[in-house]
Amino acid sequence: VLKGKNAVITGSTSGIGLGMARALADSGANVMINGLGDAGEIEATRAAIENDFGITALYDGANMLDGEEITAMITRAESELGSVDILINNAGIQFVSAIDEFPADKWEAIISINLVSNFYAIKAALPGMKERNWGRIINLASAHGLVASPFKSAYVAAKHGVLGLTKSVALEIAESPITCNAICPGYVRTPLVDGQIKDQAKVHNMSEEQVIRDIILAAQPSKRFVEVEELGQLAVFLCTEAAQSFNGASLPMEGGWTAR
Ligand code: NAD
Repeated sequence: VLKGKNAVITGSTSGIGLGMARALADSGANVMINGLGDAGEIEATRAAIENDFGITALYDGANMLDGEEITAMITRAESELGSVDILINNAGIQFVSAIDEFPADKWEAIISINLVSNFYAIKAALPGMKERNWGRIINLASAHGLVASPFKSAYVAAKHGVLGLTKSVALEIAESPITCNAICPGYVRTPLVDGQIKDQAKVHNMSEEQVIRDIILAAQPSKRFVEVEELGQLAVFLCTEAAQSFNGASLPMEGGWTAR
């Protein structure tokens, strides 16, 4: 369904972003992946997408802390793939700490990577979408864009910000066939969550098993992790014509977390 479309997915060398890149590629889109990591492993990841799905897969190493690098990544995708029809702002980091002990540099990095990077990527990609009169922007927020948890002030603030940004952009493009939506996942077992399990175990002085049962999935009534593949399918759906009327939406996929 996405044959001929070109997508940029930030933070797609692992976890949800990689799952979304593979889902879009499986639907026929060419993809530019992005993210940090070992150069050899990233090249293997890129080549696997190309081989598995028979599309073009490029990699760009833009650091989501740097607006100029983000802008250059979009420009490069436009020239080497031909366009950016789909933009998925997915890169994100987490840090868990009481606010009075929260390191200021971590707080600012979370706001930059999880929120400000979305601004730079949208600003760079939107003119091309308007010119071609079609586009899909998907921002990865979180259940923490809708509700809060203690010890995650920077992340919760950034993700609430992502939902505000999503709504504002959606209104600006509402009369065009471009849409801008946010996905709000609950807990997905990715490297990011593995890190949190370790951090929470330290904060609460608990075993990792106890943290998974009593803290991580305590908020998620389904008592199971959301699967990366489920999120990939939702992203593909949002890119179809059938999803044209989803605009400015915050779509929870969190096993009932925010139904409480
Ligand atoms: P992950 O750690 O597996 O992947 C994060 C990706 O972002 C990686 O590719 C990493 O290299 C990249 N990245 C980090 N800092 C970067 C930087 N400065 N520049 C460029 N790339 C950078 O994380 P994930 O769990 O897949 O999370 C992806 C998104 O989904 C994030 O926005 C996260 O907040 C959100 N999310 C995750 C969960 C979850 O349970 N895992 C739940 C809700 C929302």
